[in-house]
Amino acid sequence: MEIKKFKKVLVANRGEIAIRVFRALSELGITTVGVFSKEDRYALFRSKADESYQLNPDKGPIDAYLDINTIIRIAKEKNVDAIHPGYGFLSENPEFVDACEKNGITFIGPSSDLMRKMGDKISSKQMAIEADVPIIPGVDHAVHELDEVLKIADHVGYPVMLKASNGGGGRGMRIVNSAEEMPKEYAEARDESKKAFGDDQIFVEKYLKSPKHIEVQILGDEYGHVVHLFDRDCSVQRRHQKVVEYAPAFSVPDEVRQQIFDCSIRLAKHVGYKNAGTLEFLVDADNNAYFIEMNPRIQVEHTITEMVTGIDIVQAQILIAEGYPLDSEEIGIPSQESVECNGYSIQTRITTEDPLNNFLPDTGKITVYRSGAGNGIRLDGGNAYAGAEITPYYDSLLVKAISHDRTFKRAVDKSIRVLKETRIRGVKTNIPFLINVLNHETFRSGNCYTTFIEDTPELFL
Ligand code: ADP
Repeated sequence: MEIKKFKKVLVANRGEIAIRVFRALSELGITTVGVFSKEDRYALFRSKADESYQLNPDKGPIDAYLDINTIIRIAKEKNVDAIHPGYGFLSENPEFVDACEKNGITFIGPSSDLMRKMGDKISSKQMAIEADVPIIPGVDHAVHELDEVLKIADHVGYPVMLKASNGGGGRGMRIVNSAEEMPKEYAEARDESKKAFGDDQIFVEKYLKSPKHIEVQILGDEYGHVVHLFDRDCSVQRRHQKVVEYAPAFSVPDEVRQQIFDCSIRLAKHVGYKNAGTLEFLVDADNNAYFIEMNPRIQVEHTITEMVTGIDIVQAQILIAEGYPLDSEEIGIPSQESVECNGYSIQTRITTEDPLNNFLPDTGKITVYRSGAGNGIRLDGGNAYAGAEITPYYDSLLVKAISHDRTFKRAVDKSIRVLKETRIRGVKTNIPFLINVLNHETFRSGNCYTTFIEDTPELFL
C-alpha cells in the first residue's frame, strides 16, 4: 500500500462546491489553492482558499474554468499535488484527468478510463448489461438512421425518449409520442446534441411515466473494495433537474432498495470503480428499477448522505486519492455493515429563480441576507451575502439548506422552518415555491415522482 500524502490541493471550481472542498482539505491539514475567473474576482469563494489565482481573463466566464492549460500551469507553478474538480466544468472530462496525470498531479476522482466507460450514458448502459443490471428498454448503442430509430420505438412502444449520450443537467432529452413526430424530433435531437455536447450520439429508450428518481452513493478504493452509502430520492425535479432531494429513499419498498444497492455494488465492482460516484435509477409505478446513468464525481446533493451516514464524502475522496483503503483508520469504513443510516435529511436548493416568471434567474445586488440556522441545519453556500453581486454567468444556486432529524416529518418541518427564517432581498428567490413543495401532501407522504412539479399547478400560488 503506497500512500501519497497531499500537501497542497487545487480546486478547479467555484462557488459553494469550491468552499465545500476547501473545508474538507483544511480539516485534513492540506493547503488549499483556489482559481477564479475575471468575472468572479469579487466572489467570496476565492477568499476562502489559502491562496487563489486568476484564470485567463480573455477566456470568458465559463471557458476560464474549462481552460485545462491554464489550470495545469497554475497547479505546476504553485507545486500542487492534486486537483479536485468539484461538479460541472471539468469534473467529467477524461482529457483533463489525462492532463493531470501527464503532469504528475493526482486527479481526485476516477481514472480517465473509468470516466470514459461510465461518464457517457451509452457506454455505461453497456457496462450495466455486462454486470446484469437492468436498463430501460431501448438500445445500448448510438442510432444513426431514422429507420432504426423508428424500428426501436415501435418495438418498445411510444412514448419514447431520445437522449444525447453526452447530455447532462437535464438537457439533451426529448419525449416523442408517436412515429409521426419522430423525423422532426430525431433531426432536432441530433443537431442539438452536436451543438451542445460536441457529438451526435443519440440513443432511444422507453419513456417511463412518472417514475421516481432514486440514486445510490458509492465509494470505491484502489484495492477493489466498494461500499454504498445508501440512497437518495431526487424525484422532485423541474425540467429533469433536481430541486429538492432527501435521504434515505424510504418510500421505495425495502426489497427494491436492496436490489438497487446490490446492482450498484455489482456494477461498480464490475468496472473496478474508484473514488466517489453515484448510480442513478428510475423506479416505475410497478417498482421496477432501471439503471439510467452514473455520475463519476461528487454531486450537489452529496450533503444529505453525509448527514444520515456521518461520512464526509469529500474527505473520503481525498483520502482514497492519497491511496488509503476504505478500511483504513483514516477513512474508517471497514465493511458495508459499518455504514449506518440515521434519521432523514432533506436538501432544498435556494436559487435566484423566479417561480412566477418561468424560473428566470434574477441578477443584481443582494441587499439583505439573513440565513436560517439552528439544531439539525447545515447550510452550504458561498455566493450569497449582503452586498454580493449575483452575476448572470453561472448557475443560479445561492445556498443549499439541509435539514436532519429523526423522522421524515420532523425533517420536513425543520426545512420549512429554516426556509421561512431565511431573508434574502435584492434578488428574487424560489423560497416561497420550495415551501409550497415541502408543504404539499404528496411530498410529505414521500410519493413524489419526476413530473410532480409540472403536474401540480398549485405549487405556483
Ligand atoms: P442528466 O444526465 O441530464 O441528469 P438523466 O439521464 O440523469 O439526465 O435523467 C434526468 C431525469 O430525466 C431523470 O431523473 C428523469 O426525471 C428523466 N428521465 C430520464 N430518462 C427517462 C426515461 N426513460 N423516462 C422518463 N423520464 C426519464
